Amino acid sequence: MIIIAGTRGRETEIGTGAFYCPRCQTERGYVRKRVGTYFTLFFIPIVRVKDHGEFIECQTCHQKYELTVLDYQPAVAPVIPEMDRLRVSIRRDLDAGMPLQMAQQKLVNEGIHDNSADHTVTVAAGAGVRTCPACGMRYVRTVERCTSCGAGLVTHVG
Ligand SMILES: [Zn+2]
Ligand SMILES: [Zn+2]
Repeated sequence: MIIIAGTRGRETEIGTGAFYCPRCQTERGYVRKRVGTYFTLFFIPIVRVKDHGEFIECQTCHQKYELTVLDYQPAVAPVIPEMDRLRVSIRRDLDAGMPLQMAQQKLVNEGIHDNSADHTVTVAAGAGVRTCPACGMRYVRTVERCTSCGAGLVTHVG
C-alpha cells in the first residue's frame, strides 16, 4: 500500500462580524480566518503542524487584512475653526488683488460682525499693507497696482 502524505495550507473560519473595510471605504461584513499548515494523509488534513495566525477578509472585496484592521477608523478631516477657514479664504482673495475694504465687506456680507471682519482682514493681510494714493483702497504688499483705479501703490507707513 502506498501512503500519500504531505502538508497543505488550510483556512478555517473562526468568526464573522462587521468592520470598516479600507478598500471598500465603507462598513462591510468580514470573515475571520485562521491559516495553518496541516499534515495530510491521502490529502485529508489530519493535524495542524504550523499556525500562521489569523486574518480578516472582507466579504465584499475579499481583501485580506491583519486583525488590527478591526480597530481601523476612517480618517476624519481635521476640523478647521470657522475663523481660520475664513482667514485662509480672505488671504487668498487679498493675494489675488482684492482691496482690504472689499474683503471686509465680503465677510460682513457672510454675516460676520463689523469689528470681527475688520480684525480677520487685518490679521489675514499681515504687515506691510499698501494704500492706493488715488482712491485709498488698501492692499497686501504683494499687490503692485490698485485693482480699483489702476494707480501704483505705496507702502502704508505706521
Ligand atoms: Zn472590502
Ligand atoms: Zn486706487
